[in-house]
Amino acid sequence: MRRSEGDDEPRTLPPRARDRVYTAVTRVLAVLLLPVAFVRQPGRARELACGWALRMRFPAEDLTGLTDGARAAFTAARAEALWRHGQLVGLTSGYRDPRVQQRMFEEEVRRSGSVAAARMFVAPPAESNHVKGMALDVRPHEGARWLEAHGARYDLYRIYDNEWWHFEHRPECGGTPPRRLPHPGAAWASRNGGRV
Ligand SMILES: [Zn+2]
Repeated sequence: MRRSEGDDEPRTLPPRARDRVYTAVTRVLAVLLLPVAFVRQPGRARELACGWALRMRFPAEDLTGLTDGARAAFTAARAEALWRHGQLVGLTSGYRDPRVQQRMFEEEVRRSGSVAAARMFVAPPAESNHVKGMALDVRPHEGARWLEAHGARYDLYRIYDNEWWHFEHRPECGGTPPRRLPHPGAAWASRNGGRV
């Protein structure tokens, strides 16, 4: 892609000053909300307070449509990220309606000039795990790096070299990260004789 040779891992993008403030405020909010969460659900207070605080930080995020397993895994993982390491993990895009995915794919075909090139960045609806409710695009970059390091405990794995933000809930992997693919079209390309 647009990376120099030997640089197969993007460096962590430095957090903007504004993001650092948001992170600090979100942590304080989670702590303040903890007593209320304990009253609501003593056994899940930390997850609950974390979820409320993150909703204020990332008001546009939407966890609906994810499979029950993916949602539970993501909720538990980001509670650990916040309470244990002070990291925020927000959801940019989870479940996608097949029509939305189709539109994204068509736009990418137009942008990149061919179906084969488009597949390197966007999967068509029939192959997209966003449509199945088991893929999650996360932010910011440090949050994604946290999930990459700790996600296996929750069956959440980074899948592609060219998408640091894309994770999938893969309980069948049993804690062993699946082999990472260069891009979303790689599995399809290998099924089709290596053609990309
Ligand atoms: Zn994705």
